Amino acid sequence: MSSLNISPAEFRAIAEHITTLCTEYLESLDSLPAFPAHISGTITEQVFRQPLPETGMGDAALAALKNVLEHSRPPSPRFAAYVFGSGDPVSAAGDLFASVLNQNVTAWRSAPAAVTIERTVVDWLVEAVGLTGGGFRKTKGFTGSLCGGGSAANLMGLAMAREAKAPANERGAQPGVIYASTEVHMSIPKAIALLGIGRQNMRLIPVDPEFRMIPAELDRAMAEDRQGGKVPIAVVACGGTVNTGAIDPLAEIAEIAHRHGAWFHVDGAYGALAAIAIPEKFAGLDQADSLSLDPHKWLYQPADIGCLLYKDPGWARVAFSHTGEYTRPLSEDPVEGFAFFEESLELSRRFRALKLWLSLRYHGLNSFREAIRRDLQHARKLRERIEAEPALQMLGSGALSAVCFRYVGEGAKRITDDAEADRVNTAILRKVVHERGRVFISNASVQGKFALRACFVNHRTSERDVEEIVEEVSAAGKELVR
Ligand SMILES: *Cc1c(COP(=O)(O)O)cnc(C)c1O
Repeated sequence: MSSLNISPAEFRAIAEHITTLCTEYLESLDSLPAFPAHISGTITEQVFRQPLPETGMGDAALAALKNVLEHSRPPSPRFAAYVFGSGDPVSAAGDLFASVLNQNVTAWRSAPAAVTIERTVVDWLVEAVGLTGGGFRKTKGFTGSLCGGGSAANLMGLAMAREAKAPANERGAQPGVIYASTEVHMSIPKAIALLGIGRQNMRLIPVDPEFRMIPAELDRAMAEDRQGGKVPIAVVACGGTVNTGAIDPLAEIAEIAHRHGAWFHVDGAYGALAAIAIPEKFAGLDQADSLSLDPHKWLYQPADIGCLLYKDPGWARVAFSHTGEYTRPLSEDPVEGFAFFEESLELSRRFRALKLWLSLRYHGLNSFREAIRRDLQHARKLRERIEAEPALQMLGSGALSAVCFRYVGEGAKRITDDAEADRVNTAILRKVVHERGRVFISNASVQGKFALRACFVNHRTSERDVEEIVEEVSAAGKELVR
């Protein structure tokens, strides 16, 4: 027997060791610094750059898990950086279960329960954000698949757009243009590069003072390009920009995109799941040809889980199917003949749906709606506190949970020069996160200014934690500006 085989008793001991560690860690979260103190590249290299063991270490291998906890950024209540979910432990437990089961979620015949659960979870996401689903046997309406994250979802959405408007799978890439606002997430130009469309063929449309794409500017640019004989491939709208959480005017953009014959993709990786709580802000979402969602952001799931939804699975099959003999479906039945590999860039696929299925069933959609509302409330509260604090200045905050601001001092110590403000706020960020360690925020560039940025997609955050962001930034600012 292979020495890779372990006994059931060994597995139980390992799993119990890990669940005990995790339980104690979760218990300690509130008292841990938001970023590990006294950490450096030298230290992590020393701790983890160990030689590859030729012979097994057995239980001693598990001892190093404590080091992993100690040298990691914890999923703290006071983490409000980037756009990254807090990690529901129910889902985490589901991940262990899914890995033990180790299904290849590529076709119903290889993973009947898992494929059905993923299709169910995708239908639930469609319904949760207020769209009409295609369901198992219907053909019209939204359907889709899970993937590694928003970047993968955007890449797949734009691959579908390209096959629909400027087919390249057989002949290679044809010239065409993709439109997005100047606030577009970097995953879009990355996808445009990877798809061979070329970043020079991305048109960045100006935004209004609230960082939303200006529809008239889009219309003008598309009309001009079409007169010049260019092919409009897609318009990408933001369902929440990563910097300030601005939502582009989706309905107006959809009308313009479709009138000019382009595909309409919504990058909802940060924000579109907020439609669970504030559907009125997402009017026009149903006009999307494809839509990216990121449950590992605003559905509090542990990484990784992203999702691409699309209105017509036919385009997903045009873009992704390459059915070889060995993968030929054995059945025409819409359930038993279903294969994700025909509609996704992945072939072997892990059971990502299990954790979300478990989490949604355990907590119920209303708990998620409530948590999203609390995040929105935290952002409102932070905006109010910043506006009431003379030493702080708001730089931008849209309809969602991201707040960009900076420290400008007050009275005789008021900073009036932008370059000086950039320098001071860069130092504040380092001090707040890496020296003081109470709160973890990040940064953004807003109209060329260095901004401190807090973004709430964290079910653990309390009002008191929001207050601490203001206190910590103010304290660091006072220390630095004397
Ligand atoms: C996070 C984000 C992405 C990329 O998603 P990943 O899951 O990090 O790959 C794309 N667009 C927006 C607006 C995002 O916030």
